[in-house]
Amino acid sequence: MLQTDNVKRKQKGVIMPLVSMVNELKKAQAGHYAVPLFLTFEMTGFEGTLAALEESRSPGIMGIFHILMDRPNIRAFVQYIRARAEDSPVPVSISLDHGTSLEQCMQILAYGATDVMFDGGKLPLEENIAITRSVVRDAHAMGAGVEAELGFVGHGRDYANLDAVRQGFTKPEEAARFIEETGVDALAIAIGTAHAEYQGEPQLALDLLADIRARVDVPLVLHGGSGLSDAQFRAAIEGGVSKVNIFTDLGLTAGRQMVSEAQAEKASYFSISAAAKTAFRERCKHYIDVFGASGKA
Ligand SMILES: [Zn+2]
Repeated sequence: MLQTDNVKRKQKGVIMPLVSMVNELKKAQAGHYAVPLFLTFEMTGFEGTLAALEESRSPGIMGIFHILMDRPNIRAFVQYIRARAEDSPVPVSISLDHGTSLEQCMQILAYGATDVMFDGGKLPLEENIAITRSVVRDAHAMGAGVEAELGFVGHGRDYANLDAVRQGFTKPEEAARFIEETGVDALAIAIGTAHAEYQGEPQLALDLLADIRARVDVPLVLHGGSGLSDAQFRAAIEGGVSKVNIFTDLGLTAGRQMVSEAQAEKASYFSISAAAKTAFRERCKHYIDVFGASGKA
């Protein structure tokens, strides 16, 4: 198996070029598990996340939230992640999360990312198709994979209202046409999750997931996972989700652990930073386990 060869080569200190997430997503789809995308904002959280992937022998995707593209250190940050990932024995790819334009997608690929997500979920369908198609054309020419969004995964603060009317949920008949016309590699769908913290109990529309799964063959992606129960994750993955995006819970847990460590008598800059790294490592390992990705690298 190529995977095992990769692990052996890396143990000998051979640098492996990073590749697109697409192959790992296809393997996950065939194997009924999900590859985690953990958003990463700075080095401490990143190091905890990478440690979790390596200790769990899991493939993973480091997600760069589009807002970071305006920061002066973004090129250096992507290159740091890339260098660390190339040294890692597990397959790690780097994707833009919720990219806002073709230009932004091309920019992060030039910085060293392996994949992009273009999010036209709020656009009219025809416009979403047109821009996504141009992102796919240019990204594929660079060897990168593309995720797009159809339907709209809203914010948790609006959750109670959104769910009642299934507002913004992905329409199965549009999903088939969207894949056909854009050539996208993975599709983020809206089936009842929300970004950030939920107001109210999250409910997944598994009937809708089954309908979409039956009509399209690309890996499906769940955003807004923080707050779902382990059983809900497993049901979504069993129902055909092959990638799950997570951050809110990681950030909240790390924040709480840092505050708690700061109360300790011998608390220091180093011990508080270490508490953050540990929180990321432990929460990521938990999710890797729930997603069935442990041992898949
Ligand atoms: Zn998202």
